[in-house]
Amino acid sequence: MVALIYSDRFLDHLTGLGHPECPQRLTAIVEALRAAPWGDRLAWHLPTPLTERDPLPWITQIHDPQYLELLQHLAQRPGGGALDLDTPVSPDSYDVALLAVNAWLDGVDFALRNEPAFVLARPPGHHATAKMGMGFCLLGNGAIAAHYALAQPGIHRVAILDWDVHHGNGTQDLIENNPAICYCSLHQSPAYPGTGRASDQGHHGNVLNIPIPPNSLFPTYQTAFTQQVIPFLSQFQPDLLIVSAGYDALHADPLASICLQPADFAQLTQQIRPLAPRLFFGLEGGYDLPALGAAVVATLEVLV
Ligand SMILES: [Zn+2]
Repeated sequence: MVALIYSDRFLDHLTGLGHPECPQRLTAIVEALRAAPWGDRLAWHLPTPLTERDPLPWITQIHDPQYLELLQHLAQRPGGGALDLDTPVSPDSYDVALLAVNAWLDGVDFALRNEPAFVLARPPGHHATAKMGMGFCLLGNGAIAAHYALAQPGIHRVAILDWDVHHGNGTQDLIENNPAICYCSLHQSPAYPGTGRASDQGHHGNVLNIPIPPNSLFPTYQTAFTQQVIPFLSQFQPDLLIVSAGYDALHADPLASICLQPADFAQLTQQIRPLAPRLFFGLEGGYDLPALGAAVVATLEVLV
């Protein structure tokens, strides 16, 4: 069985009319998974409630407490607020973002029990830096999960692979000082947020950035995986692999110009499976609803 960690509560982070990072993204994925012929091999789980596990100690390990106060303050204002033009904060956003962190921590827990998991949560996280959220992201879910994992018995090295089409500047910011975590990102360049040069290798050589030219097709990813991603992750020998699974490198995606097809993610998933004894996936971006649903289905089809 593959664990699906999801709650309707993740629909309550509201971004406003016409915003691409909308609640319907999750609904589209849920419907696509329920329609899959192997849908009965998915075990749906609610994230651990905030009353059962408080994620704040894990969040404040890497995020500035003043930023958390700001986030809470914006959410408490009538009608919410915004961190930047792209990143609205609605009245429920703070609590939903905490629950999303819990869902990613659950992803770690499932992986450690040797159950592969997919975390279907929002808001996404890989642009959130220590001091500020940005680019639709409030809290650094993947980086927080990596630090949480390192506190568990038997986990000495954690790898994060980020195939969202945008560079995870936040994740890199939050892990590059820690030699026990490595981060590998494939991202369109030039594109938002403008970071992620190949020459940025982290403070311990623990970062691999692979800029991808606009209009690239799957063979470019295939080559990058064979020549760079797989050797880098194999050498690091992670005890756990976290996949920051964004699906905005799809050809249909309105926010970027890479030309992957949903089935390509099945191939990428197949290739990364042997790289770590345990793994889980967490949703980042992906804004064309039908293609997003199809690509998550393609990913999970490999795991079931
Ligand atoms: Zn993205």
